[in-house]
Amino acid sequence: MIKVNQLKLDVYYEDNDKFMDDLKDEVANKLKLNIDSFKIVEILRYSIDARKAHPLKAVYSLVLNLKDEKKMLKGLPKKLDISPFSYGDRYEDRLKELAKNRMSDDEDKNPNFSPIIVGLGPAGMFAALALVKAGIKPIIFERGQKVEDRRESVEKFFKDGVLNPDSNVQFGEGGAGTFSDGKLNTTVKDKYARQRFILETFVNAGAPKEILFNSRPHIGTDYLFEAVKGIRQILLDNGATIYYDSKVDKLILDENQILKGVSLSNGESYMTDSVILAIGHSSRDTVKSLFDQGVRMSPKPFAVGLRVEHKREDVNLMQYGEHSSSKLPTAFYKLTHKAANGRNVFSFCMCPGGYIVNASSEEGGVVVNGMSNYDRMADNSNSAIVVSVTADDYPSSHPLAGIDYQRDLEQKAYNLAKGLIPSERYIDFKNNNEPDKEGRISPVHKGETAFANLRECLPDYVTSAIIDGLEYWNKKMPGYADDDALLSGVETRTSSPVRIDRDDDFMSNVKGLYPTGEGAGYAGGIMSAAMDGLKVAEQIIATIKE
Ligand SMILES: Cc1cc2nc3c(=O)[nH]c(=O)nc-3n(C[C@H](O)[C@H](O)[C@H](O)COP(=O)(O)OP(=O)(O)OC[C@H]3O[C@@H](n4cnc5c(N)ncnc54)[C@H](O)[C@@H]3O)c2cc1C
Repeated sequence: MIKVNQLKLDVYYEDNDKFMDDLKDEVANKLKLNIDSFKIVEILRYSIDARKAHPLKAVYSLVLNLKDEKKMLKGLPKKLDISPFSYGDRYEDRLKELAKNRMSDDEDKNPNFSPIIVGLGPAGMFAALALVKAGIKPIIFERGQKVEDRRESVEKFFKDGVLNPDSNVQFGEGGAGTFSDGKLNTTVKDKYARQRFILETFVNAGAPKEILFNSRPHIGTDYLFEAVKGIRQILLDNGATIYYDSKVDKLILDENQILKGVSLSNGESYMTDSVILAIGHSSRDTVKSLFDQGVRMSPKPFAVGLRVEHKREDVNLMQYGEHSSSKLPTAFYKLTHKAANGRNVFSFCMCPGGYIVNASSEEGGVVVNGMSNYDRMADNSNSAIVVSVTADDYPSSHPLAGIDYQRDLEQKAYNLAKGLIPSERYIDFKNNNEPDKEGRISPVHKGETAFANLRECLPDYVTSAIIDGLEYWNKKMPGYADDDALLSGVETRTSSPVRIDRDDDFMSNVKGLYPTGEGAGYAGGIMSAAMDGLKVAEQIIATIKE
């Protein structure tokens, strides 16, 4: 088989047969092949080239089967972007290999061995999936509700502001990313086809097939909800046990700081010598409790800021220019800039055609984030605009001081808008005015909103860097710093301000405790958290002696 890149076609097709015919024609023309001498095996990659002053095109990479590959390859012009292709080992093969090697060296296994997983977000969920595929049956504790009940709690919070501190946008089955745009990109290197396994798992659990080849795969909250239920069923069908509304609040340790089990906030305790800690970046009470038990942690840089909103059509125009049309997917952008004060300011977790959500998880604090449905067709497009902060900015050198830093900003935002989402127009933010009205852009929010001067809940070095960024990006995206662009805050959960230290075998200083995912400080986003969960599970599959 061969892989062919840079095949260009029209962006939009109503008729799939016409699409497949045109794709075959493009291959035949580009490779100067007879239309019957090859077969399209798979679309590997798809992206849109909407650069202004360039013809608008969809760009494909394909896997082809050539009738007489050796002979035909010889005849192909050298300048073509083609290469031999073979499907590498599938990730499942790696798990089988690891399990086989483990099984071979110790006959009298304890079939009831059950590692414990704390947290059913992407890291915990995929760690569990790898374990069950290797014949191990984990016990999973999730402090939040099953996703169906969780959604009701979240909708209730959005509607009347009643927060369930254990089941909300941050906590509950599926983890933080369940109410999100469900972007699945990552820059993490992937030697063992873990990404493909994760994407295929989402597709088998109900997500759209095109995430397998879209260069910017996203699922959207609507499909994520279904995919979480689908993955839950795979886990239960393969022997995992899941306890919801079950918060782990302490480790059971022996006198040598060796793990013996966990105890829950309801007083129950469970014995094991392996715990995968996949608690996410917002489980501050659990992090504090573990720190007090001697689990080693260190401060980690992250970023804080606000979320900006523009009309979806305006962003489409800014990005697509003359190509802008309803036939194109809602436009995306990724922006960075070095502010005059030396700080990095950048766009984060952009949600095309989405909502700003009240993503709070603590009474007395307000934090925002973004979500979209798969079609990305809400009236506005939004993105976090955040500024880099480090331990030097935190109130003290204590390893957990970054959490205090976050909490302080969130409480200020809460007090500023009396628990609602504080929001204002860019012009008022820039001029430090007391906001009193909205302009031509109305908030598209999940959760009530109130006008407030956001400068009162952010440090000046963050505020000035945000203004620097918007003014700079306005030069290349005219309208980005529109007076009526809406700002809402605060965006403080961009990643964890704390790292739970672990060694090369993924183990913390407490023997048997495996911190993983975003909460442990080793991932940022759904895909990288899921990949980190898989890595930790592989370690347990390969090395555990029951
Ligand atoms: C609104 C929003 C939108 C986002 N959008 C995107 C996006 O589009 N793309 C993207 O890549 N990333 C996105 N993210 C980030 C992404 O969700 C996280 O990076 C990812 O979910 C981290 O996975 P995780 O498994 O490490 O932790 P989490 O997903 O945070 O999961 C941790 C789980 O542990 C549970 N837990 C915590 N403490 C305990 C305890 N003591 N006992 C039992 N259970 C516990 C929690 O309830 C939670 O379910 C978004 C995040 C939010 C909040």
